Amino acid sequence: TEACLNAIDGAGTLNAFVHQTPELAVEMARVADHRIKAGDGAPMTGIPLGIKDLFCTNGVATQAASNILDGFRPEYESTVTQNLWDAGAVMLGKLNMDEFAMGSSNETSAYGNAVNPWKVDDRQLTPGGSSGGSAAAVAADLCLAATGTDTGGSIRQPAAFTGTVGLKPTYGRVSRWGTIAFASSLDQAGPMTKTVRDAAIMLGAMASVDPKDSTSADIPVPDFEAALTGDIRGKKIGIPREYRMDGMPAEIDALWQKGAEMLRDAGAEIVDISLPHTKYALPAYYVVAPAEASSNLARYDGVRYGRRAKLAQGDGVVEMYEKTRAEGFGPEVKRRLMIGTYVLSAGFYDAYYNRARKVRALIKRDFEQAYAAGVDAILTPATPSAAFGLGEMSGKDPVEMYLLDVFTVTVNLAGLPGISVPVGLDGQGLPLGLQLIGRPFEEGDLLNHAYVLE
Ligand code: GLN
Repeated sequence: TEACLNAIDGAGTLNAFVHQTPELAVEMARVADHRIKAGDGAPMTGIPLGIKDLFCTNGVATQAASNILDGFRPEYESTVTQNLWDAGAVMLGKLNMDEFAMGSSNETSAYGNAVNPWKVDDRQLTPGGSSGGSAAAVAADLCLAATGTDTGGSIRQPAAFTGTVGLKPTYGRVSRWGTIAFASSLDQAGPMTKTVRDAAIMLGAMASVDPKDSTSADIPVPDFEAALTGDIRGKKIGIPREYRMDGMPAEIDALWQKGAEMLRDAGAEIVDISLPHTKYALPAYYVVAPAEASSNLARYDGVRYGRRAKLAQGDGVVEMYEKTRAEGFGPEVKRRLMIGTYVLSAGFYDAYYNRARKVRALIKRDFEQAYAAGVDAILTPATPSAAFGLGEMSGKDPVEMYLLDVFTVTVNLAGLPGISVPVGLDGQGLPLGLQLIGRPFEEGDLLNHAYVLE
């Protein structure tokens, strides 16, 4: 814990930690020390963690990297973080992210973006988003691991950009209670770690059956670490042909081949599969996610949480809402709210929202059919490229940024577990990740495949 606190102090330019809790950390580490000496250490006793700013932490600033939550200090602890503290982990502070988890580069954060510790010459790169602060902090050794959340790739893409491991569990495996909502039917928290083994241990601590989350699955949490045997003989790995995109860089293709060979060398069978509705995933995601966000973010009204705008003489409740939201939300969040309210509006509901829901069901069915045909895991690239430069996307059509989520959003739409594992470097020496997608609630098996790729 001391080493991490010192490292955080020396790494201000990465802008990964946005609220630090050094006194709390030292106190928690002391308690952990006693527990270990008394021989009652739990799996994560004394492990110093960073927590994404999306998780409510009792008495500790929680802002979702938004100005609208300026000054908000929850009076309760999210189930995920409570589970981690119960398992003995130590809290170092809160980590940077895109505002309300909307973005792929950390550049929508009200705190300013986090920076990737990997560089090419002196060019500063994005750590990815939205869990970019988490990824940067783990990659720069500011913490041993971090929490992330993944609505459309926000754990897996930053993991791929920073050479770390990021796991999005099956929808329902980890409680969403106390995690600030973006798109409730897609959001899922997960571990961001240095190794697959750490991810297995940390997922075991984060996951629980939680009566406070109605979508929490009533399925026991197994010992994920015990599943890491490295034995995948006879397993069937699907390579979905629709993920071979036009114009895909040769080095991504080569990485994909390399991953398939590693799995084959370990005794798995590689098969070509088809997930025919893949091309509709991005448009479906960018309808469903903003629709749910527009409903979830309606609660930030200047009354219940965080900030209220200064009002002029004679301003009423409508002016309070308008002024608070106008100054509290950043441009990307406003864009999502406008898209979301539009696709849910009476005249367009069937044309957009309902159609997206139908497409979502077809995407889910594609995966079900692959698994029914005996596929154990699906291998794809995690991202279409390595980390890009900070500022590189600014001024471009926002849709260009959305297109980068092409390999990750299908997994959220289908509610499946997915993991990004660092498998190689690109021509400039930057990390590249591969994604493995597993069967629902079989994270142990998924982690075991990832273990072979590591
Ligand atoms: N890039 C995705 C988006 O902006 C990531 C969302 C997420 O997973 N939180 O919606």
